[in-house]
Amino acid sequence: MQIELNAEVVADGAVSLSWRAAPRPGSVSLLIIRTGAVPSYTTMTLGGDTARYQIEHLSRHQRYLVAALGRSAGQVACSGWLSVTPRAGLAPRAEQGADLSAHLATVSRVMIMPQDRRLTAFWQVSPGFIDGLELELRRGERVVRRLTLEPEVTSIYMDSARRVQLVNGNDYTVRLRASFAGQVHHETPPVSCTPAPQGQERQANGAHPQARLIYPSLTLEPEVCIFPEDEAEANPVDESLVCCHCRQPVRWQQYRLRCHGCGAEFIPNGRGDFLDLGQLRFGTCTCCLPRKILIQRQGSGALACAHSGKEHIRLPGTEGYHLIEDLPFGLCQCCRPRRPLVRRGEGVRCSKSDEQHRNEDGRYVLVPSEPVFDASAIDDLLDAGLAEICGTGVSRGG
Ligand SMILES: [Zn+2]
Ligand SMILES: [Zn+2]
Ligand SMILES: [Zn+2]
Repeated sequence: MQIELNAEVVADGAVSLSWRAAPRPGSVSLLIIRTGAVPSYTTMTLGGDTARYQIEHLSRHQRYLVAALGRSAGQVACSGWLSVTPRAGLAPRAEQGADLSAHLATVSRVMIMPQDRRLTAFWQVSPGFIDGLELELRRGERVVRRLTLEPEVTSIYMDSARRVQLVNGNDYTVRLRASFAGQVHHETPPVSCTPAPQGQERQANGAHPQARLIYPSLTLEPEVCIFPEDEAEANPVDESLVCCHCRQPVRWQQYRLRCHGCGAEFIPNGRGDFLDLGQLRFGTCTCCLPRKILIQRQGSGALACAHSGKEHIRLPGTEGYHLIEDLPFGLCQCCRPRRPLVRRGEGVRCSKSDEQHRNEDGRYVLVPSEPVFDASAIDDLLDAGLAEICGTGVSRGG
């Protein structure tokens, strides 16, 4: 396949992109780099019948590199790169020597929290292009599970709720692979870990390298210690704690802080206090164990875990909350940050913009009703990476 990209600055801040590809691709991804000391990256993937897309409200003080990548039945072709400064009267020019492989994202800081028949993985993704993330769980040579994730996902738990049956005392390894345009370009070294019942996690994992392991926090201390030397010794919850309702003892059981008398459940708020689960306005998160409080983000209806920052998404027509790794159709191509896709009528649409998407080779591409992208927030978005929907936190507790 061959693809040729053309760009035209049509007004201050507005760039019209058009492309010609042969044979006709199934989808076309526009690759955009904002140049500078710290380059930023975004891609938008459109259906192959779209051949023009105009991006408005770019900063006219920035220089962007753009390219188009066509895909069809396993074939991939990338156009040359164009350098564009969106200021009226400035013509785009070809950028020589730009190399896609120098702009691919990698995965780093993989951390695993072993728990009772459960593993939680946390990681970071460096700035760069990435459109696929795969987590592989192995027991020895045997692959137990491969999970395909959106690049925005930066943590995931694996247990029976996600149909991953883990056995306490068995050794597993976890690794992640980053891919772009169907090619794996980065793989992390495997992290060894062993699930174990509450209280036995450290002992069960004692033979593994510890640098990539973290343990669940059952303390009253704030959980995230930025400076390790300040890390206080773990204080297991005082066994003499009593329930505020029935004065019976309260103890950790299955990572839940429960009253033995009336069954009331509490969560530590990380500042030394306990909150009665029954009194929480939005309930608790589904990403952490022990569970954390769900809070509403200021200025939006979005609910997020107070600890991990992970958004808990309510989808029309479904009960409860979804995490981005559990969305049935993944994320849209029309918004930044990307928003959940939902089924509406016959089609799959963005829950925010209502733009239609189509499944092309297993991924959803945008079929734009108007080939115009409003990039009002693109610089904020590029500055923030794509992190808005997927902030993460890591417990380093005792
Ligand atoms: Zn009680
Ligand atoms: Zn959480
Ligand atoms: Zn959207």
